Amino acid sequence: MEIIRSQRKIAAEPDVTPTLSLYRSAPSLEVRLEDFELFALDRLRVLKGISDGLSRGKKPDEMEKLVSELWRTHMRHQNASEVINKDIISHFVLRLVYCRTEDLRKWFLSIETILFRHRFRLESFDAQRMLMGEFNLPYKALSNAEFENVKDKLNQVARSINQPLPTGMLVGMKVPFEEVPDLVAGRRVFMLKGYAYVAMNQVVSLVVTQFRSHLSKALVLTNRKWTSTIREQERDRLTPIVEALSTMYLGPDYSQPKEFAEISIKDIDIVANSSFPLCMRHLFEKLREEHHLKHGGRMQLGLFLKGVGLKLDDALAFWKAEFSQKVGSERFDKEYAYAIRHNYGKEGKRTDYTPYSCQKIITSTPAVGDHHGCPYRHFGEQNLRAALGKMGVGGRAMDDILEKVQNRHYQLACTLTFEAVHASSCDTGINHPNQYFSESQKIFQSKNPPTT
Ligand code: SF4
Repeated sequence: MEIIRSQRKIAAEPDVTPTLSLYRSAPSLEVRLEDFELFALDRLRVLKGISDGLSRGKKPDEMEKLVSELWRTHMRHQNASEVINKDIISHFVLRLVYCRTEDLRKWFLSIETILFRHRFRLESFDAQRMLMGEFNLPYKALSNAEFENVKDKLNQVARSINQPLPTGMLVGMKVPFEEVPDLVAGRRVFMLKGYAYVAMNQVVSLVVTQFRSHLSKALVLTNRKWTSTIREQERDRLTPIVEALSTMYLGPDYSQPKEFAEISIKDIDIVANSSFPLCMRHLFEKLREEHHLKHGGRMQLGLFLKGVGLKLDDALAFWKAEFSQKVGSERFDKEYAYAIRHNYGKEGKRTDYTPYSCQKIITSTPAVGDHHGCPYRHFGEQNLRAALGKMGVGGRAMDDILEKVQNRHYQLACTLTFEAVHASSCDTGINHPNQYFSESQKIFQSKNPPTT
């Protein structure tokens, strides 16, 4: 795949029957740098949506609907002939992004495999056969004689799993049983002498196993190429994009308060208690208690407060009221006020800094004495229980939250906390502390509309 800065791409791939690619090798397409990133972001939205759906325990039929919806929403292109290119380019860009560590490879492999399985099943029978042909699977269709020998057994299995009885073209294949582990584990095939007899309507399992094994090897090879050459060669161009993509926040921009124009210092304790997520509530309490926060905490809480609508003057007054109790107001003016104005874009490069997303906070590494980070990720169980208890969470909700934490689904744990505290569902899930705040305020304001 060759990357160009700006030009039209070469003509689209010829129209083929299957819409699904096996991604066997990177295509020789010229790709604009903008598309390199934008296509990858769109695919990432699909993969993250699938991952969230799974962690939320969606049932298989709900997952089918979700994957179709995600694909339809994010992977279209205004030019229909570019849809296949977008699919292929985005897959190969994300291979680069997700080949770089064992954890990233594992995640990408499992979600891409789910996506592939879903899309393969939606292909027509002919397209499925064509795709199988591309894999050069060494399996042969059952001969008539073989079929007659095992027909009764095949019918028995088909009946037990509510599948149509194998007839005509749908007879099936004989494959070494280790090639179809999920069918064997689910007792969905007849087995004889080390072979599984796979009906044609179950071949998805064969193809998925091949796809997974091919992609797994390809990710390891890509990683080698990445570390040996690509990373250095592309140091000024692709490397920064690739490195940023795996921790990219994909939700709305919370750098400016939107729905709730501003909060004032006099309301801050009330809204902190009602609408701050646990990470900000913890920082807020520590600031009130110790009249000080280290740099990481000042940044995390300060930008959050800016995003929820605390104006610069109020922010200065708020931080000064606390810090001056510890360091004196003169030192506050000299050492700390600059950084607050800086966050609001009033000093230095005058950049308007953006509040941190959950992903950024969760992947931060607080040291001893720091209070920033995500409590679901960085607290021990006892402290987390106590903190949740103070928010009024208990019983079954507490167990569910701790189970999500154990499985490292921190944002889901936060979503369940939100749902328990507000007695209201949060279908989108929590991706950003400022989103938590604004969803919470929406609920409170709908219950207590402001009087005029
Ligand atoms: Fe804060 Fe996000 Fe962690 Fe919730 S999941 S506590 S909003 S960082």
